[in-house]
Amino acid sequence: MDEVLRAGVGMPEETLDPRDWQQFRALFHRALDEMVDHLISVRKRPVWRQMPAAVRKELQSGSPMEGSGLEKVYEEFHRCIKPYALGNIHPRFWGWVTGTGTAGGMLAEMLKAGLNSNPAAFDEVGRLLEQQVVSWFLEAFGLPPTGSGILVSGGSVANLVGLAAARDAKAGFDVGRHGLTGAPRRLTLYASVETHSSVDKVVQVLGLGRESLRKIPVDGEYRILVDDLRRVIRADRAAGRRPFAVVGNAGTVNTAAIDDLPALAELCVQEDLWFHVDGAFGAVAALSPDLKPRLAGLDRADSLAFDFHKWLHVPYNAGCTLLRDEEAHRAAFAVPASYLSTVERGVAGQPRPAHQLGLELSREAKAITVWMSVREHGLAKLGRLARRNVDQALYLAELVAREPLLELLAPVTLNIVCLRYLPEGGESWPVENLNALNLEILMRLQEQGIAVPSHTVLDGRVAIRICITNHRSRLEDFDRTVAAILEIGGQVREGL
Ligand SMILES: *Cc1c(COP(=O)(O)O)cnc(C)c1O
Repeated sequence: MDEVLRAGVGMPEETLDPRDWQQFRALFHRALDEMVDHLISVRKRPVWRQMPAAVRKELQSGSPMEGSGLEKVYEEFHRCIKPYALGNIHPRFWGWVTGTGTAGGMLAEMLKAGLNSNPAAFDEVGRLLEQQVVSWFLEAFGLPPTGSGILVSGGSVANLVGLAAARDAKAGFDVGRHGLTGAPRRLTLYASVETHSSVDKVVQVLGLGRESLRKIPVDGEYRILVDDLRRVIRADRAAGRRPFAVVGNAGTVNTAAIDDLPALAELCVQEDLWFHVDGAFGAVAALSPDLKPRLAGLDRADSLAFDFHKWLHVPYNAGCTLLRDEEAHRAAFAVPASYLSTVERGVAGQPRPAHQLGLELSREAKAITVWMSVREHGLAKLGRLARRNVDQALYLAELVAREPLLELLAPVTLNIVCLRYLPEGGESWPVENLNALNLEILMRLQEQGIAVPSHTVLDGRVAIRICITNHRSRLEDFDRTVAAILEIGGQVREGL
């Protein structure tokens, strides 16, 4: 041992545990009470608040060589962090596709953090809960009970897991061993132009290259044109490519369009392709008996990606990939390592360790939160809440249809409403002016803390996009938001 290390041996003991547990307990209780109050009073607050420059400065402090203690850090959380969070726990937050979270989920997260268990390989309870959650959702979505699945950070990684398995299963050679340089023909996959950008990312990260992802046009309801798809696949094959997968959308991010999943499943059988479904939020509609028929064909997926943290309201972050064929799943991720092998008994006496089903090794025991959340409320209620959000979208669409100064920009088929403000005579305005007007309305709506929709562009037209994955929203929230859009629209119009 060298001299420097030897000199450290006699140093006083240190630990990260609180010096005074009673004091810690009191602070924890206070933090708990204040967080519960924060949830109870959420409706009374603005949806979002711009962070003042002074607060921003305070949060950009230098490296903390010495600790400040928990009291001080909590005080900073209370003062500088909590008020300026995104706001997605609020009943009028409908931006992007964002979950609301739950009070019970907050409790589960605290318990999970207390155990600080790592289900990577050998935590039996973590793996057991994860397998249970997977089996509940295999059943809910109509996949065979022999299928497999894994909890991941979200839909993006869930798409990666499914498409990695697809690539390896359908490449026609051992990709894991040889890599894509061994590909005799260019592996190619297919999805509509409305597909989420995470699929582009996945294709890039899997080494396929974004050129390998063929974007197929959509119909008037933003669903993939299956005949076009078939033509492109056949042409690609004739040109020497190797088609390997189709990505179907169960709820596109722009308009919640659901592709013709049965037709895509059939085509995949005919063409011997892997059928991956991105159901990040939309798959959840299958939990509602009334909505389930729209998701016919979901049960024919080879892999299905969906999120717990969006329409299932589990706290961030939790997504999931389900796979029809456990062997194909395992083949994509099981890599031998002596230090991770299982033994007969003891902690390492676990068959089927989770790290052989995904990219991550160490990870949080997310299954605890998901398992507790789903059991707390039950699948039927989660389905009813999805159904209620769809009813709210239809209600909002009617408000828009009745109002001459508002225009729907896409059919409302599920839980997303894309609309814009159209001033009197606006039909003859250049589209850029209407776009600028609507972005201005949206920014003011957010800055005033009234509501947080997001925006998108549909056929060159800027839409105020309201995506309802929120168990706290009420009809009056939509009345209020429509009134605000009209009022702000009038003000902006005046100011032009
Ligand atoms: C949100 C979303 C994703 C990505 O999921 P994350 O959980 O944000 O990683 C993929 N596809 C669709 C359709 C989405 O809405």
